[in-house]
Amino acid sequence: MKTTTLPKPPRVGLVSLGCPKALVDSERIMTKLRSDGYDMSPDYAGADVVLVNTCGFLDSAKAESLEAIGEAIAENGRVVVTGCMGKEADVIRARFPGVLAVTGPQQYEEVVAAVHDAAPPVASPFTDLVPEAGLKLTPRHYSYLKISEGCNHRCAFCIIPQLRGDLASRRPDAILREAEKLVQAGTKELLVISQDTSAYGVDLKHATWSWHGRDVRAHMTDLVRELGSLGAWVRLHYVYPYPHVDSVIPLMAEGLLLPYLDIPFQHASPKVLKAMKRPANEAKVLQRLKDWRALVPDIAVRSSFVVGFPGETEEDFTYLLRWLEEAQLDRVGAFKFEPVHGAAATDMPDQVPDEVKQERYGRVMELSARISADKLAAKVGRTIDVLIDAVDGDTGGATGRSKADAPEIDGEVHLRDAGHLNAGDILSVKVEDADEHDLFGVPLQS
Ligand code: SF4
Repeated sequence: MKTTTLPKPPRVGLVSLGCPKALVDSERIMTKLRSDGYDMSPDYAGADVVLVNTCGFLDSAKAESLEAIGEAIAENGRVVVTGCMGKEADVIRARFPGVLAVTGPQQYEEVVAAVHDAAPPVASPFTDLVPEAGLKLTPRHYSYLKISEGCNHRCAFCIIPQLRGDLASRRPDAILREAEKLVQAGTKELLVISQDTSAYGVDLKHATWSWHGRDVRAHMTDLVRELGSLGAWVRLHYVYPYPHVDSVIPLMAEGLLLPYLDIPFQHASPKVLKAMKRPANEAKVLQRLKDWRALVPDIAVRSSFVVGFPGETEEDFTYLLRWLEEAQLDRVGAFKFEPVHGAAATDMPDQVPDEVKQERYGRVMELSARISADKLAAKVGRTIDVLIDAVDGDTGGATGRSKADAPEIDGEVHLRDAGHLNAGDILSVKVEDADEHDLFGVPLQS
């Protein structure tokens, strides 16, 4: 019998650091490399070249990126660096003269070309097939959907606009095509991400494109309405608190969007917000939260806050605590201010000592844990929809998320008597118990 010996495809190792946006970049790069006939290597030893997708947002992220590059050099030796830290090619080359190539964020062609140079592809119809929806690094049942890149704001603590440039939105028809493919390939939840989701389409002057015979404006409201009609859960992240965010709340009431908003408020004290160059209308925000809850009582609001920003006094900080007590946000992430090279806040006077930052961080986390525990306790006895993330065949348990929980950053729902379920199932669950972060329950259907 004549057998065909397949050429061995070159293998690429990947270390992906940073935020979900960087993860989407990694997915795109790997999708392209897979379509060029590359295999992925799960370890350094089996890789012909290692790609390190770096994060350069904070100095601690840069340090982590440098460490990852060093490890890849030591373990494999053939390393291509990309991502946000690629903007600092000189720093990387000075420390690691042996890196094969350094490319910046979104330089997909350059990074793919660098991998081609380092480990030339072997053409083969058996190795260059790619799944319809591309190769994904998240589980099949949820997918990040990047709708734009860059940001037109200039928050004083942030260097994203320097790293990634001004807002550049994708065309709505291209986003919807990608989303439709993902849903057809099994995605049950689309996580809409960008640096500034509510600014979507500003750079395109909100022009209109045709999608399945309908006109769709490049505008957040129009885009998410169309995404909501695809049949998957749609979750909005990184929504800057513009007034027009109010217009997506009715879509949640209609069931087109998950009742979930991730809005980084960053602070509440008008003085600190002004210094941060953020909108300082915290009183209005409290009223808007009330209005949103009147329309969508189950809406879950997640936010992040920076404590210890330069000039933040104890009075500013207690203002924030009082505001949080009143706002009753469902999920709160806090960050201690970290000076970043190139950010305006780094050189501001009245830097807050580390021990004060730490103490304030502890107080915010304590308060938000208490609010979260109360809110979750109120769900005990209720029936909620849960999307299953993982099933444990040994214990007969499963872990999933409610509509109020984004993957990785929010809580989970732990289920008993659920060994028959599969990742990606969506089912009704009776909530039996709760703690500060998670819910516990049992499936209502088999
Ligand atoms: S809106 Fe976000 S990405 Fe844009 S400058 Fe502010 S913190 Fe940075």
